[in-house]
Amino acid sequence: MAATSHTSVKSRDGVSTLAGRWPLLGQRRPLVVYLCGIVTLDLAAIVVFATSTDFRWPDLLTFLALMGCGAVCIEASRRLGMPAGVSRDLLSAWWLPVVLLLPPVYALFAPILLQGLLQLRVRATVLYRRVFSSAAIGLAGCTASVAFHWLVPDPAVLARGEGLPIVFAVACAVLFALLNAALIAVAAHTADPDTRWREVLWDRESLLLDVVELCLGVTVAIASGLNLALLVLALPPVVLLQRSLLHAQLQAAARTDPKTGLLNAAAWQREADTEIVRARRTGETLALLIIDIDHFKRVNDRHGHLVGDQVLVGVAATLRSQLRDYDVVGRFGGEEFVVLLPRADVHEARRVAERLRTRIGRMAVPADDAMITVTISAGVAIMSVHGDDLIELLAAADLALYRAKELGRDRICIPAVQPPKPPPPSP
Ligand code: GH3
Ligand code: MG
Ligand code: MG
Repeated sequence: MAATSHTSVKSRDGVSTLAGRWPLLGQRRPLVVYLCGIVTLDLAAIVVFATSTDFRWPDLLTFLALMGCGAVCIEASRRLGMPAGVSRDLLSAWWLPVVLLLPPVYALFAPILLQGLLQLRVRATVLYRRVFSSAAIGLAGCTASVAFHWLVPDPAVLARGEGLPIVFAVACAVLFALLNAALIAVAAHTADPDTRWREVLWDRESLLLDVVELCLGVTVAIASGLNLALLVLALPPVVLLQRSLLHAQLQAAARTDPKTGLLNAAAWQREADTEIVRARRTGETLALLIIDIDHFKRVNDRHGHLVGDQVLVGVAATLRSQLRDYDVVGRFGGEEFVVLLPRADVHEARRVAERLRTRIGRMAVPADDAMITVTISAGVAIMSVHGDDLIELLAAADLALYRAKELGRDRICIPAVQPPKPPPPSP
């Protein structure tokens, strides 16, 4: 997994995409309208397709077998746990065959069953997120299923291995992934309009996983179309892939502060140390900032901790959006953040720190009946000028931060450099 300063695999389900972005649902009317709209559309689709579908025993058997495989996958990775923010799974391997082989109504039912199982057996999260996730996957699957059945009226031909039906299956699997990603991305963007579309849509890692899911889904569809018993052969490799994927995500989560998505203190120190050793070896400059939100306790006291948390999320997002990819950003603890700026000299560091101060000062987080704004103070330390290792740089930046607070907050301070002592007079 790439060593970026935040969790790098984008979620494709509404559960974790919305987690942390906007837990205070009541404050976001457009988001509520959007979520209710999607769920209503899903319910309407269930009624329409259920009344027009001829339920046949072989279809029901295929559906139950695929859902059984999904349940085994969930159970097999359950013991690894799934903390908030860890969300990518390979369940598409089971609902893509549902989409391709069965009438569209089954694509609406499948996510309800598996999301229900996740909620009961893996992690009980806020119910509206699960409901939205089921609706989004269901609608995307149903649309892809309608398209596939229109292109290939008899899905049994998929198992004959002819080229064209397989091409159509791949195209419909792509349609499914695109629709699902779009429905989730609109929710994420409505929840937090400041996030960039690119950020809520793709990154390289999640694109790769989408391709893996697509390949698995189409292969399992062909195998189970050939003979349902072949699912017994497909299940173990999918379970193993699912477990290793979860493992990788848990490793990433262990480096991440769950509230803000930035590096946690331990991971930040490790990465900062590496950068400092590199800068010392190459002789490049490097700057370190400690940033502290001013009078943050007052925000908590006036508006409550949940709103306080939203301010932390907003500050973290602003920091990330204002810094370069290779800057190392972390949450040091409480309302303190740390930033390492490789190759920055004193002028660049001051410029960046001032920009962060201005941007965060302009940020407004909605609370019950007001918009909350905060200011920050920051201490800056420069490699070789204020210290030669991480401990010295942190100490110097901390001292400068203390001075910024003393001088009235909402400012940046750099420690004064002691002029070199004159040599002792010769006797
Ligand atoms: P100063 O300008 O001197 O930094 O004042 P301050 O109020 O920001 O600093 P102080 O150290 O007195 O208070 C920090 C507050 O941050 C107290 C604590 O409740 C709050 N805090 C720490 N972690 C979290 C968190 O994760 N969420 C929320 N909502 N508050 C937190
Ligand atoms: Mg503090
Ligand atoms: Mg503070």
